[in-house]
Amino acid sequence: MEATCCLLLDAIQEPVEASFQAEPGTGKPYMSYMSKYRNTVRLITLIHDQNVGEVNWKDGVKEIKYFVDDGDFEIMKNGLKTNARVLFAAGAKQLFIPTSHKLTIDSEDQIDAVIEGLDNEPARYRYTSFHPQGTCRMGADPKSTVVSPTGETHEVKNLYIVDASLLPTSIGYNPSETVYALAHYISDQINRAHT
Ligand SMILES: Cc1cc2nc3c(=O)[nH]c(=O)nc-3n(C[C@H](O)[C@H](O)[C@H](O)COP(=O)(O)OP(=O)(O)OC[C@H]3O[C@@H](n4cnc5c(N)ncnc54)[C@H](O)[C@@H]3O)c2cc1C
Repeated sequence: MEATCCLLLDAIQEPVEASFQAEPGTGKPYMSYMSKYRNTVRLITLIHDQNVGEVNWKDGVKEIKYFVDDGDFEIMKNGLKTNARVLFAAGAKQLFIPTSHKLTIDSEDQIDAVIEGLDNEPARYRYTSFHPQGTCRMGADPKSTVVSPTGETHEVKNLYIVDASLLPTSIGYNPSETVYALAHYISDQINRAHT
Protein backbone atom coordinates (compact mmCIF):
# COMPACT_ATOMS: atom_id res chain seq x y z
CA MET A 1 0.00 0.00 0.00
CA GLU A 2 1.26 3.49 -0.83
CA ALA A 3 1.64 6.05 1.93
CA THR A 4 -0.30 9.12 0.85
CA CYS A 5 -0.16 11.75 3.53
CA CYS A 6 1.64 13.78 5.99
CA LEU A 7 3.79 13.30 9.00
CA LEU A 8 5.54 15.52 11.50
CA LEU A 9 8.94 14.72 12.98
CA ASP A 10 9.30 15.78 16.58
CA ALA A 11 12.25 15.57 18.99
CA ILE A 12 11.46 14.45 22.52
CA GLN A 13 13.49 13.64 25.59
CA GLU A 14 11.22 11.38 27.51
CA PRO A 15 11.66 9.80 30.94
CA VAL A 16 14.26 7.00 30.85
CA GLU A 17 11.72 4.43 31.98
CA ALA A 18 9.45 5.28 29.04
CA SER A 19 12.04 4.09 26.50
CA PHE A 20 12.11 0.43 27.45
CA GLN A 21 10.72 -1.04 24.27
CA ALA A 22 13.43 0.58 22.14
CA GLU A 23 16.16 -0.80 24.35
CA PRO A 24 17.95 -4.02 23.52
CA GLY A 25 16.71 -6.33 26.23
CA THR A 26 17.86 -6.82 29.79
CA GLY A 27 21.19 -7.68 31.44
CA LYS A 28 24.41 -6.93 29.54
CA PRO A 29 22.77 -5.46 26.39
CA TYR A 30 20.71 -3.17 28.62
CA MET A 31 23.74 -2.08 30.69
CA SER A 32 25.70 -1.41 27.50
CA TYR A 33 22.84 0.70 26.06
CA MET A 34 22.35 2.65 29.29
CA SER A 35 26.08 3.37 29.66
CA LYS A 36 25.74 5.43 26.46
CA TYR A 37 22.29 6.85 27.24
CA ARG A 38 23.55 10.45 27.49
CA ASN A 39 24.66 10.16 23.85
CA THR A 40 21.21 9.13 22.64
CA VAL A 41 18.42 11.21 21.17
CA ARG A 42 14.82 10.33 20.31
CA LEU A 43 12.80 11.41 17.31
CA ILE A 44 9.11 10.63 17.06
CA THR A 45 6.69 10.75 14.15
CA LEU A 46 3.26 12.32 14.57
CA ILE A 47 0.67 11.31 12.01
CA HIS A 48 -2.91 12.31 11.33
CA ASP A 49 -4.28 8.80 11.64
CA GLN A 50 -7.18 7.82 9.42
CA ASN A 51 -8.73 5.12 11.56
CA VAL A 52 -10.81 5.80 14.65
CA GLY A 53 -10.82 4.19 18.08
CA GLU A 54 -13.53 3.65 20.66
CA VAL A 55 -13.75 4.06 24.42
CA ASN A 56 -16.65 2.13 25.95
CA TRP A 57 -17.86 1.10 29.35
CA LYS A 58 -18.42 -2.63 29.46
CA ASP A 59 -19.73 -4.21 32.68
CA GLY A 60 -18.41 -1.22 34.64
CA VAL A 61 -14.93 -1.45 33.10
CA LYS A 62 -13.37 0.96 30.61
CA GLU A 63 -12.67 -0.73 27.28
CA ILE A 64 -10.34 1.00 24.81
CA LYS A 65 -10.21 -0.19 21.19
CA TYR A 66 -7.68 1.14 18.73
CA PHE A 67 -6.41 -0.45 15.53
CA VAL A 68 -3.64 0.72 13.21
CA ASP A 69 -4.75 0.50 9.60
CA ASP A 70 -2.36 -0.44 6.82
CA GLY A 71 -2.30 3.07 5.32
CA ASP A 72 -1.34 4.62 8.66
CA PHE A 73 1.32 1.96 9.11
CA GLU A 74 2.90 2.86 5.75
CA ILE A 75 3.01 6.54 6.78
CA MET A 76 4.59 5.47 10.06
CA LYS A 77 7.25 3.52 8.13
CA ASN A 78 7.97 6.61 6.01
CA GLY A 79 8.40 8.50 9.29
CA LEU A 80 10.88 5.92 10.57
CA LYS A 81 12.87 6.07 7.33
CA THR A 82 12.94 9.88 7.37
CA ASN A 83 13.95 9.95 11.04
CA ALA A 84 16.70 7.43 10.31
CA ARG A 85 18.11 9.56 7.49
CA VAL A 86 18.01 12.71 9.64
CA LEU A 87 19.83 10.93 12.47
CA PHE A 88 22.56 9.43 10.25
CA ALA A 89 23.04 12.84 8.59
CA ALA A 90 23.54 14.28 12.10
CA GLY A 91 26.26 11.71 12.81
CA ALA A 92 24.39 8.85 14.50
CA LYS A 93 26.31 5.56 14.65
CA GLN A 94 23.46 3.18 15.47
CA LEU A 95 19.66 3.43 15.51
CA PHE A 96 17.33 1.47 17.78
CA ILE A 97 13.92 0.81 16.27
CA PRO A 98 11.04 0.95 18.80
CA THR A 99 9.84 -2.59 18.27
CA SER A 100 9.88 -5.74 20.35
CA HIS A 101 11.94 -7.33 17.53
CA LYS A 102 14.96 -5.51 19.05
CA LEU A 103 16.08 -4.21 15.67
CA THR A 104 18.97 -1.86 15.06
CA ILE A 105 20.17 -0.07 11.91
CA ASP A 106 23.93 0.28 11.74
CA SER A 107 24.40 2.22 8.51
CA GLU A 108 22.39 4.38 6.16
CA ASP A 109 22.30 1.75 3.40
CA GLN A 110 20.36 -0.61 5.69
CA ILE A 111 17.46 1.81 6.31
CA ASP A 112 15.07 0.79 3.54
CA ALA A 113 15.57 -2.97 3.94
CA VAL A 114 15.10 -2.92 7.71
CA ILE A 115 12.03 -0.67 7.71
CA GLU A 116 10.40 -2.40 4.73
CA GLY A 117 10.75 -5.66 6.65
CA LEU A 118 8.33 -4.44 9.33
CA ASP A 119 4.77 -5.78 9.34
CA ASN A 120 1.65 -4.10 10.72
CA GLU A 121 1.54 -5.93 14.06
CA PRO A 122 0.58 -3.11 16.47
CA ALA A 123 1.51 -4.96 19.66
CA ARG A 124 5.15 -5.06 18.51
CA TYR A 125 5.61 -1.29 18.25
CA ARG A 126 5.85 1.50 20.70
CA TYR A 127 2.83 3.59 19.76
CA THR A 128 1.92 6.34 22.20
CA SER A 129 -0.91 8.83 22.19
CA PHE A 130 0.10 11.99 24.02
CA HIS A 131 -2.72 13.82 22.25
CA PRO A 132 -6.14 12.24 22.78
CA GLN A 133 -8.70 14.29 20.84
CA GLY A 134 -12.19 14.11 19.43
CA THR A 135 -14.20 12.36 22.16
CA CYS A 136 -16.74 15.25 22.27
CA ARG A 137 -16.41 16.55 18.74
CA MET A 138 -17.79 19.97 17.82
CA GLY A 139 -20.27 20.53 15.00
CA ALA A 140 -23.73 21.66 14.01
CA ASP A 141 -25.29 18.22 13.60
CA PRO A 142 -26.42 16.66 16.92
CA LYS A 143 -26.45 13.23 15.27
CA SER A 144 -22.73 13.21 14.61
CA THR A 145 -21.35 15.67 17.18
CA VAL A 146 -21.55 16.26 20.94
CA VAL A 147 -21.18 20.04 21.22
CA SER A 148 -22.45 22.87 19.05
CA PRO A 149 -20.15 25.40 17.33
CA THR A 150 -20.39 27.58 20.48
CA GLY A 151 -19.05 24.79 22.73
CA GLU A 152 -22.41 24.13 24.42
CA THR A 153 -23.44 20.48 24.48
CA HIS A 154 -26.34 19.62 22.20
CA GLU A 155 -28.07 17.61 24.93
CA VAL A 156 -27.57 19.72 28.09
CA LYS A 157 -28.21 23.45 27.92
CA ASN A 158 -25.55 25.67 29.57
CA LEU A 159 -23.02 22.83 29.77
CA TYR A 160 -19.91 23.86 27.83
CA ILE A 161 -16.85 21.79 26.95
CA VAL A 162 -13.55 23.61 26.57
CA ASP A 163 -10.74 21.16 25.82
CA ALA A 164 -9.06 18.90 23.26
CA SER A 165 -12.09 16.63 23.08
CA LEU A 166 -13.82 19.21 20.82
CA LEU A 167 -11.52 18.66 17.86
CA PRO A 168 -13.42 16.74 15.19
CA THR A 169 -10.40 14.64 14.19
CA SER A 170 -6.75 14.36 15.08
CA ILE A 171 -4.98 17.55 14.02
CA GLY A 172 -1.73 15.67 13.45
CA TYR A 173 0.19 18.24 15.45
CA ASN A 174 0.94 19.14 19.09
CA PRO A 175 -2.42 20.51 20.22
CA SER A 176 -1.83 22.74 23.28
CA GLU A 177 -1.96 26.03 21.40
CA THR A 178 -5.12 24.97 19.58
CA VAL A 179 -6.65 24.00 22.95
CA TYR A 180 -5.77 27.47 24.34
CA ALA A 181 -7.34 29.12 21.28
CA LEU A 182 -10.51 27.01 21.61
CA ALA A 183 -10.77 27.83 25.32
CA HIS A 184 -10.44 31.54 24.52
CA TYR A 185 -13.06 31.30 21.78
CA ILE A 186 -15.55 29.38 23.93
CA SER A 187 -15.09 31.76 26.88
CA ASP A 188 -16.24 34.51 24.51
CA GLN A 189 -19.24 32.38 23.49
CA ILE A 190 -20.19 31.85 27.16
CA ASN A 191 -19.86 35.58 27.90
CA ARG A 192 -21.94 36.43 24.86
CA ALA A 193 -24.71 34.04 25.87
CA HIS A 194 -24.82 35.05 29.52
CA THR A 195 -24.15 38.79 29.75
C1 LIG B 1 3.91 13.54 27.99
C2 LIG B 1 3.12 14.54 27.19
C3 LIG B 1 3.80 15.50 26.47
C4 LIG B 1 3.08 16.46 25.74
N1 LIG B 1 3.77 17.40 25.05
C5 LIG B 1 3.11 18.33 24.35
C6 LIG B 1 3.82 19.37 23.65
O1 LIG B 1 5.06 19.45 23.67
N2 LIG B 1 3.08 20.27 22.93
C7 LIG B 1 1.72 20.23 22.89
O2 LIG B 1 1.10 21.10 22.25
N3 LIG B 1 1.03 19.27 23.56
C8 LIG B 1 1.69 18.32 24.28
N4 LIG B 1 1.00 17.35 24.95
C9 LIG B 1 -0.46 17.30 24.82
C10 LIG B 1 -1.17 18.33 25.68
O3 LIG B 1 -0.60 18.31 26.98
C11 LIG B 1 -2.65 17.94 25.75
O4 LIG B 1 -3.15 17.69 24.45
C12 LIG B 1 -3.47 19.07 26.37
O5 LIG B 1 -3.01 19.31 27.69
C13 LIG B 1 -4.94 18.67 26.41
O6 LIG B 1 -5.65 19.70 27.10
P1 LIG B 1 -7.03 19.38 27.79
O7 LIG B 1 -7.45 20.66 28.43
O8 LIG B 1 -7.94 18.73 26.80
O9 LIG B 1 -6.73 18.23 28.87
P2 LIG B 1 -5.80 18.27 30.16
O10 LIG B 1 -4.68 19.25 30.01
O11 LIG B 1 -5.47 16.83 30.43
O12 LIG B 1 -6.75 18.84 31.29
C14 LIG B 1 -7.77 18.05 31.88
C15 LIG B 1 -7.92 18.55 33.30
O13 LIG B 1 -9.11 17.99 33.87
C16 LIG B 1 -8.81 17.57 35.18
N5 LIG B 1 -9.77 16.53 35.52
C17 LIG B 1 -9.85 15.26 35.07
N6 LIG B 1 -10.88 14.61 35.61
C18 LIG B 1 -11.51 15.50 36.40
C19 LIG B 1 -12.66 15.44 37.22
N7 LIG B 1 -13.41 14.34 37.31
N8 LIG B 1 -13.01 16.54 37.90
C20 LIG B 1 -12.29 17.69 37.80
N9 LIG B 1 -11.19 17.81 37.02
C21 LIG B 1 -10.81 16.73 36.34
C22 LIG B 1 -7.38 17.08 35.14
O14 LIG B 1 -6.80 17.12 36.42
C23 LIG B 1 -6.75 18.13 34.20
O15 LIG B 1 -6.28 19.27 34.90
C24 LIG B 1 1.67 16.41 25.71
C25 LIG B 1 1.00 15.45 26.46
C26 LIG B 1 1.71 14.52 27.19
C27 LIG B 1 0.96 13.49 28.01
